[in-house]
Amino acid sequence: MAFPICDECAKSGLLCKGCVEKARDGEITELDVLVSNLLAHHGAKGYESLVDFETKLIIFASDEDATEIIGPGGKTVAELSKKLGRKIAVVSKSWDKMQIIQSLARPSKMVKENKVSTPKGERLKLIFDKPIDEGSLELIKEMAGDVEIEIQPYHR
Ligand SMILES: [Zn+2]
Repeated sequence: MAFPICDECAKSGLLCKGCVEKARDGEITELDVLVSNLLAHHGAKGYESLVDFETKLIIFASDEDATEIIGPGGKTVAELSKKLGRKIAVVSKSWDKMQIIQSLARPSKMVKENKVSTPKGERLKLIFDKPIDEGSLELIKEMAGDVEIEIQPYHR
């Protein structure tokens, strides 16, 4: 996978003629340029797409690129998050369903996994420790299908 801008532009953060045209045609955004530049400096090779929520940025990437973007112990994604001033979730579409859900839900953590019976059969019910933002919740439903998400009530 590559960056939406060419490698040289990703490294320099400045756009060549070709990439300026892409930007003008709306194929790439300012955020693409910024994220590509930051990631190129951390040795990542690219990503698939960005989903931009107000408080959170989701980066879709191949399995291999996702590992690079997350970095050792989450170091790269933590630095990126600091520089962009918002939360970031990195997701690979080739991950299994649970891994995708847990990554999208970040920084909320899954505390429990239950199976509930419904007339249509068993359904997965996941309990998280903190509320999950609206956009991420919608993405989880879109990508993971029939799961129920619940937020843990405060401990009494
Ligand atoms: Zn370029």
